[in-house]
Amino acid sequence: MPDRQTNPNPAETVFLQTAEGVLKIQLRIERSVRSRVMRLSINLDGEVVLKIPPRQSLQSASVFLSKQSEWIRERLKRLPKRTTLLEHFTAFPYVSAYNRSYSMHIASTSIKPSLLFFPTATEVCMRVREDTLFDSQAIPLLRDLASKVIPVRTLELAKQFNIKIKHVSMRDQKTRWGSCSTSGTISLNWRLVLLEPALHDHIILHELAHTLEMNHSARYYKVLGQMDANSDKHSKAIDQVSRYLMSLGRKS
Ligand SMILES: [Zn+2]
Repeated sequence: MPDRQTNPNPAETVFLQTAEGVLKIQLRIERSVRSRVMRLSINLDGEVVLKIPPRQSLQSASVFLSKQSEWIRERLKRLPKRTTLLEHFTAFPYVSAYNRSYSMHIASTSIKPSLLFFPTATEVCMRVREDTLFDSQAIPLLRDLASKVIPVRTLELAKQFNIKIKHVSMRDQKTRWGSCSTSGTISLNWRLVLLEPALHDHIILHELAHTLEMNHSARYYKVLGQMDANSDKHSKAIDQVSRYLMSLGRKS
């Protein structure tokens, strides 16, 4: 998995005047030494990215943006609709933990939303309120599940391969499945529970292998191959679902 860097510049909410009224957008401005002119793009999340040359004033960037408001409106309209977690679980009712797959049963409750998980069972049961959006209830429940099972599995695999790690932290990265710091801290994306068991483990092994080789050299892949015999196959399978799974469980 390439360790793609997420941009440190956060997006901000901006309102644009268009022929169809006021348009609310998420704008991220990136100053880039390589930019000679201002360049506008829209990523899959619907975030508007404006790349500007180092010395460009923000005022002129704002003028440029207003001039492009119709183009932005058109492009945002054409973006594919994002799948919700509810749609995802309707099509694929499973979560993974401890190298196993559990079927996801969704039931309703009139009290607090909850997720019942017993490692030895075959099913997890998520109880949600019908008067509240499914995703806003499911995200914290899944993150909670992830923070229970992923660190345990990481330590289990680390022990199996005689690897010492300091700490496992659960994160909500935008594009990355995981990362590993030189101090031995492994950060993993909570969406690992949405991957198939073998792919879930592959991500953990990918990061554990980095504690031995802090790069993506041939030596690194040799180490990883010793830990996961189907490493290439798993890595390709993850690449195919990454964009989709990374888009799930986001509030905006
Ligand atoms: Zn890596």
